[in-house]
Amino acid sequence: MEMLNTETNRTSSEQLSSAAPTARIAIVGSGHVGSTLAYALLLSGLSSEIVLVDTDSARAEGEVMDLNHAVPLSRETRIWLGDYEDCASATIVVLTAGANQHPGETRLDLLQRNMVITDQVVSGTMKHGFKGLFLIASNPVDILTHVVGKLSGLPTSRVIGSGTILDTARFRHGISRHFGVDAHSVHAYIIGEHGDSEVPVWSLANIAGMRLDDYCIAHGLVFDDSTRDDIFSKTRDAAYHIIHRKGATFYAIATGLVRIIEAILRDQNTVLSVSSRVENYLGINNVCLSLPTIINRQGIVRQLHLNLNEQETAALHRSAETLQNAFAQTSLAKQ
Ligand code: NAD
Repeated sequence: MEMLNTETNRTSSEQLSSAAPTARIAIVGSGHVGSTLAYALLLSGLSSEIVLVDTDSARAEGEVMDLNHAVPLSRETRIWLGDYEDCASATIVVLTAGANQHPGETRLDLLQRNMVITDQVVSGTMKHGFKGLFLIASNPVDILTHVVGKLSGLPTSRVIGSGTILDTARFRHGISRHFGVDAHSVHAYIIGEHGDSEVPVWSLANIAGMRLDDYCIAHGLVFDDSTRDDIFSKTRDAAYHIIHRKGATFYAIATGLVRIIEAILRDQNTVLSVSSRVENYLGINNVCLSLPTIINRQGIVRQLHLNLNEQETAALHRSAETLQNAFAQTSLAKQ
């Protein structure tokens, strides 16, 4: 029975190697985002084991077969089609299962559908004694991060939402394009909801430590409100534009997830804009949203206290309220 499919079966693939020191990453949901994450992770060589779990086991098995054929050409990695028992011993379980947005739908519109799936994934994994970290990408990611924290009972530090890592990358890309400077030299963050109420922190955005206004004065450039609005609206609405054209977004989020996994596995103390439970932050409590956050092997180390201006503080409060109102619609709100 267990040898029916030697390429994808857990038991037979476990027999392939018992030697590798393990960083097991379990990916629950092997659709666009999950399979792209698995591929990016394989190429990165960061994890020695990748487990895919999906209710559509035929599709997931196809992904596993395809990925395994890339192993001889890339990095030695054990990849198999698994179950929640395999998730329980993973270092990180990544949640990429669930419905994605159809054209015109907001991320918050996905809540009811993806709550049910999240419940199944968390209870299935916790039942087998999971003690690792959850990394959530499914939308609405901030609410589902809150939900996973509640359902799993894990410490806040071990439940991380991909949050605005993607929006921050899009924002840095937009600023980089405008100024003609490599995005790696642009430091700027999107905070709050991964969604329509997200907040651009213009006041702290800088190129090589120079705030954008100072950079413009020093180099005789103009950076007016309409240019800012244009860069931000292209950032905030990027998913709508991409989904309209190709039905889903996956390369950039998969790359962002790999970056978070790298910060965890390599114990890097990296600052990334991810979503996690917020308490006592400028008067904001009991909500998951994104802030620049130090991440290492323990998960969330600390959310950075930004010196926001009045307008940004007010916008962050509005974003937190949007998320609190959405969470209040869930059955977990009163627990
Ligand atoms: P998809 O439809 O391509 O894949 C979803 C997969 O989940 C499918 O293979 C499906 O069979 C599986 N699934 C459904 N219920 C399941 C369950 N109970 N257990 C295991 N697997 C289950 O969708 P996608 O494009 O990969 O998007 C996945 C999620 O990621 C969506 O919620 C989407 O909105 C979100 N997303 C988030 C970001 C971000 O920045 N956080 C970016 C892009 C997409």
